[in-house]
Amino acid sequence: MQLSSPLHTSGKALRRDGRGAGPSLTPRRKELPAYLSKWGLLDKGFAYDVVAVFGSQSTGKSTLLNRLFGTTFDVMDEAKRQQTTKGIWMCPSAYSSALVMDVEGTDGRERGEDQDFERKSALFSLASTEVLIVNLWEHQIGLYQGANMGLLKTVFEVNLSLFGGSDASKAKSKDKTLILFVIRDHVGATPLSNLTATLTADMEKIWASLSKPPHLADTRLTDYFDLSFAALPHKILLPEKFEEAVVDLRKRFTDRTRPDYVFQPAYHKRIPADGVGFYMEGIWDQVVANKDLDLPTQQELLAQFRCDEIAATVSEVFAASSKAVRKPVEAGTIVEGLGGLIREWLKTATANFDVAASRYHSGVYQRKRQALVDNLHASVSPLFLGQLKNAHKAAAAGFIADVTQALKTPSYDFAEVVTRATKDARERFLETAKEVTIEGADWEYEHELSLLDDDLKVIADKSRADETKKLVNNAERAVKRQLLEPVELALSKPSTTMWDNVLTTYRDVNGAAEKAYLSKAKSYNCTDEENAVALHTLRTRSWLVLRKKLEEQTADATVLLTLRENFEERFRYDDNGVPRVWKPEDDLEGAFKKARDETLALLPLFATIKPKDDELLPVVPEPDAAEAEHDSAAFDPDTALVLVTPTRLNSLESRFKREADAAFVEAKRSMVSSVSQ
Ligand code: GDP
Ligand code: MG
Repeated sequence: MQLSSPLHTSGKALRRDGRGAGPSLTPRRKELPAYLSKWGLLDKGFAYDVVAVFGSQSTGKSTLLNRLFGTTFDVMDEAKRQQTTKGIWMCPSAYSSALVMDVEGTDGRERGEDQDFERKSALFSLASTEVLIVNLWEHQIGLYQGANMGLLKTVFEVNLSLFGGSDASKAKSKDKTLILFVIRDHVGATPLSNLTATLTADMEKIWASLSKPPHLADTRLTDYFDLSFAALPHKILLPEKFEEAVVDLRKRFTDRTRPDYVFQPAYHKRIPADGVGFYMEGIWDQVVANKDLDLPTQQELLAQFRCDEIAATVSEVFAASSKAVRKPVEAGTIVEGLGGLIREWLKTATANFDVAASRYHSGVYQRKRQALVDNLHASVSPLFLGQLKNAHKAAAAGFIADVTQALKTPSYDFAEVVTRATKDARERFLETAKEVTIEGADWEYEHELSLLDDDLKVIADKSRADETKKLVNNAERAVKRQLLEPVELALSKPSTTMWDNVLTTYRDVNGAAEKAYLSKAKSYNCTDEENAVALHTLRTRSWLVLRKKLEEQTADATVLLTLRENFEERFRYDDNGVPRVWKPEDDLEGAFKKARDETLALLPLFATIKPKDDELLPVVPEPDAAEAEHDSAAFDPDTALVLVTPTRLNSLESRFKREADAAFVEAKRSMVSSVSQ
């Protein structure tokens, strides 16, 4: 409390600035916010007061303030009678949350100079002060032409320019200031009531003499000012009485219960304590630059500045809170209850902002609040998006796991499996997405949801394709199982109905396989085109199964074996299936010829697939390029049904004949040997 903070250091400095040398301000003025903080005033909200003293030089103003408020303003050195430096000095009251301003150098009329400073300090003081102490000697009262009258006229004029408004509609008569006359060296001969009557009358006279703008012509002094009075005995002659009176006067500044308590709410200029420093700086800049002092503008500037500062502070806390979850979200973790956390941080930030900022200009406050909320939303929107992305990934992974698991069960309906897994995955995603979507933020999760839907579809399609492939493979196996044996059997007993038998089986087996595939595929929601592709694959593979088996059965060795077996059956066994024993009287040659020719007649049956019933002719599938290359003969319409070429038929015929001849020779020998026995 030992500190006095001068708003500016000296009259010299002020004069320099006052001539408009630019915004250069004395360095010490810039320290005001720091001083206010040191004095413990910053967090007072509106619970602080401002009082300033005006009056002629050397009328004991500083002495009075020091006694009243326990301040430490410079007092003129009695011995040297030296003037104290000019300026506005500030000091906190030791007895209450009041800021005391000692305006040194007012009333320049005494020396006919510096009315400019008087005007400036009046402007500055009225813009922030609740109580203006006008300090004057008793003997100055009634001297209407005296120095104080000039000073008060300036105060009134300045007040009108500040609070009168530029036109009637803007008139703000609510901003009132209390003028407290402190009459010094009150002897007591004239009662205080007489003195106050004189002063009041003088004030009214000054007010009437002001040249007011038209819209303020009818205003009265009491619209803007309340007048109050106090008298103090001579400090040097009656030191004890003086002290007593000062202590009593002090109570008017500290004791709210007193009816003459001076700091009435109506006088408060409603500048929040944490904005006083900035506000006073702004006012002083305007005043020094001789600019029109527009208080509403100053208050808006102040509000903008302070709201920004407060927003920055709460944003810092907010950012620190959100930092903790940034890493896990970036690492792909779904942070449980992230929306709740964000809501909590937002609540804290806005509540803290509201406490401090709502005291300022309401339009600015509302605007800055919205901006703050928007900024906070924007600053955590990466968390929101990250959480969505992670929820999307988790939902897709869950979907894969669910489908894979379900497809392992013995019987399942694929479409049902996919529908249920899709629903579960979407629900899981939506639960997280909704939780982390902050009301009022411009956030939406629909886009991410549609990306998830796309993913699920791709995964389901892939899984369905895999399943379809499995079905086709199963069908192919079934075809093989059912086709190979009947074909082998039919071709080992060649007959004219052989191909009709083979192809009937082929048709039935194929039909059954296709039917089985289609009935299974129904639950897969396959498209007609997909089904057509699958069936085509199945048909191609069945055709190859048949064709391979037929190639096997019509290989040289197999054909020869088949022929020989057929021949032997005819030649070596009688019609009852009993082995023949040739006797000399038997027509060995005739029997041989019959068996050989009958057997040879079977050979052409193997040449081509040729049923009697043309309906049974297999439709050779149109192969895809790879298959066509791999086995062109099987698909070429010219060769697809050909199994044994004419050349091969000839060679088979002669090879068979040789074998038959050998059998004949053997039979002949056995007959000869039985005769010779
Ligand atoms: P300021 O210039 O108005 O701030 O006056 P100061 O407080 O510096 O005091 C100026 C002179 O008046 C000093 O010498 C004080 O001792 C003296 N002084 C202070 N209070 C009183 C008082 O109540 N009566 C008289 N007669 N002199 C006083
Ligand atoms: Mg002084």
